[in-house]
Amino acid sequence: MELDNKNVESKNFIEQIIDKDLEEGRFDHVQTRFPPEPNGYLHIGHAKSILLNYGIAKEYHGKFNMRFDDTNPTKEKEEFVQSILEDIQWLGADWEDRLFFASDYFDEMYEAAVKLIKKGKAYVCDLSPEEIREYRGTLTEPGKNSPYRNRSVEENLELFENMKNGMYEDGTRVLRAKIDMASPNINMRDPIIYRVAHMSHHNTGDKWCIYPMYDFAHPIEDAIEGVTHSICTLEFEDHRPLYDWVVNELEYENPPRQIEFAKLYVTNVVTGKRYIKQLVEDGIVDGWDDPRLVSIAALRRRGFTPESIKMFVELCGISKSNSSVDYAMLEYCIREDLKAKKPRLMAVLDPVKVIIDNYPEDKVEWLEVANNVECPELGSRKVPFCKELYIDREDFMEEPPKKYFRLFPGNEVRLMNAYFVKCVDYKKDENGNITEIHVTYDPETKSGNGFNGRKVKGTIHWVSARHGVKSEVRLYENIVDEEKGKLNEDGTLNLNPNSLTVLKNCYIEPNIEDVKPEDKFQFVRQGYFCADLKDYTGEHPVFNRIVSLKSSFKLPK
Ligand code: ATP
Ligand code: MG
Repeated sequence: MELDNKNVESKNFIEQIIDKDLEEGRFDHVQTRFPPEPNGYLHIGHAKSILLNYGIAKEYHGKFNMRFDDTNPTKEKEEFVQSILEDIQWLGADWEDRLFFASDYFDEMYEAAVKLIKKGKAYVCDLSPEEIREYRGTLTEPGKNSPYRNRSVEENLELFENMKNGMYEDGTRVLRAKIDMASPNINMRDPIIYRVAHMSHHNTGDKWCIYPMYDFAHPIEDAIEGVTHSICTLEFEDHRPLYDWVVNELEYENPPRQIEFAKLYVTNVVTGKRYIKQLVEDGIVDGWDDPRLVSIAALRRRGFTPESIKMFVELCGISKSNSSVDYAMLEYCIREDLKAKKPRLMAVLDPVKVIIDNYPEDKVEWLEVANNVECPELGSRKVPFCKELYIDREDFMEEPPKKYFRLFPGNEVRLMNAYFVKCVDYKKDENGNITEIHVTYDPETKSGNGFNGRKVKGTIHWVSARHGVKSEVRLYENIVDEEKGKLNEDGTLNLNPNSLTVLKNCYIEPNIEDVKPEDKFQFVRQGYFCADLKDYTGEHPVFNRIVSLKSSFKLPK
């Protein structure tokens, strides 16, 4: 969306703040960033933040920084850095040459802390973690000053340097900002800004044994990079006074502005890292990219496209209050994206054999079939037709109820793109399962040529039993049972036992020779499918159902 053709009313509150800042000359350009902590995989909520930050930078012809907020070595791993970059690239947010690591600024952060000490705005505190908590007070009671609060600048400088030089154990001393222990905002009650932690860091190794706290590090990172609008989620609203305090006390020119928006939550899915980790560790899902999850990697593997995620995020909008979005809206977006773009193939997921008694034994007809009737540009293909076919088991009934228009004894249906066939006989095994259906066809009813004077009510899809490609198909349902509650009484996830169905005996028409992992199709009447990113091979085709075709979902007005 270009800036010029967007009118004021349609702008979200973040754009309105930015417009005002530009108008009033607070900034003369726009620069945003996406600052993940490399401590896990990104999920649909992060996608919203990425596309928002990247979209705003583009809209205002500004810059977008990719920055790892890697200031806490306890939870961070190199593995996550790679997966995060891959996901962001896939989403289409281009950071160009603007990839940064907060840990590259540790020297500047140290100098910033020294500057605060010299200004009398920070002090080394020897209280234990428990004592600090006690002194902090509560929402209703003010805090108490630390007995170390009035140390001299010289003493603080020396002690802080000692902290840096590894002279103290973890947890024995911290550096605190000297703000106001009586502030109604607890974040302003002399927050800790540096702590001792004898730990290796994935980027700086053993160079540091003190690490800055998030609330101190983040505004510095933004300021160093020249970020103008630091967009974060609502839980940081109460931290904004501290953000402003840090950039003001450090006297940055044109300090960045923090803006908060509501996190994205989606119904019927699991986003919490703790739960996903549990599902992975318990072997309930096949890793963090299992197609039932909503990590970006999982959505990709399931078959969602960057375009569909973008559409979803745009439909969600930007808001200041937390709410959940219906998962069905995400499904709506992928259907919208794929419906006019992808070929429609015939696939039989639960095959039962059909034999055309009056069709010549060795004859094969290659029928011309449009790839997508809604999109003539996609051209056509040839589909083999012969005496032995597969149809889906549910398209035949021995004793049909009223209004069942598919195949049953004596009934005639159209085989999609082919002929009318009439059921003349069928066979069952000892368990009563249908094993074979016998039909006769009418050569005068070839699709496109006519109806030979009559009409049929049902059209069913089929695959040549002699040409079809045997494939595995994976069908999904929500992993948690939202209707019965997401959690059990003991706090564990209330899992849906049917979240994954693996069908190993499916037949796809043979036009899939050139299919590569991640290719997407409609299988007519069955839904949209994606060749599995990890498991698909020519010898062993595996397709994931992204979404079925029908839904009762309506776009909210
Ligand atoms: P989580 O706890 O789910 O991993 P996080 O906030 O700890 O989320 P970070 O890596 O710190 O993850 O977040 C990177 C950015 O993504 C932050 O700016 C954060 O506000 C944003 N973000 C995280 N979750 C969501 C969400 N559900 N909706 C929108 N933005 C989000
Ligand atoms: Mg986090």
